[in-house]
Amino acid sequence: MSRYVDCHKRKQEKKLEFVRQYDEKYMELAFTVARGSEQSPRPLCLVCDQVLSNNAMKPSKLARHFHSKHGNLKGKPVKFFERLLIDMNNQKKQLKNMKTSEKSLLRGSYLISPQIAKTRKPYTIGEKLVKACILSAAEDFGR
Ligand SMILES: [Zn+2]
Repeated sequence: MSRYVDCHKRKQEKKLEFVRQYDEKYMELAFTVARGSEQSPRPLCLVCDQVLSNNAMKPSKLARHFHSKHGNLKGKPVKFFERLLIDMNNQKKQLKNMKTSEKSLLRGSYLISPQIAKTRKPYTIGEKLVKACILSAAEDFGR
């Protein structure tokens, strides 16, 4: 009995240690590796953005996802999926940049709004005067 338990335990430990790795062939099934999951790579579907578990990092499971959800893309060349990956990375970059610029815009308006309020001038002065001042100052800094 105790031998069975030991053996069973060992099996479980082995299972826990086993990490499936990404294979470039999975690109044919529209899968790449989800970012930040390098320790235990998780497959990311390039078509629907779904992230599967590391356990699903094997051809049968990836193929099942691909054929059941994206059967219409069957037979597409690998280049098609590589293009999806490039597009996805570009979109992420754009989103990241947008967030940073939106943050600085927001911070700018937090700094400026109270100043405008203090002058008791209409808020349109922000658009007409302050913005123009900031733009010319920023242009000068950029030199
Ligand atoms: Zn998918």
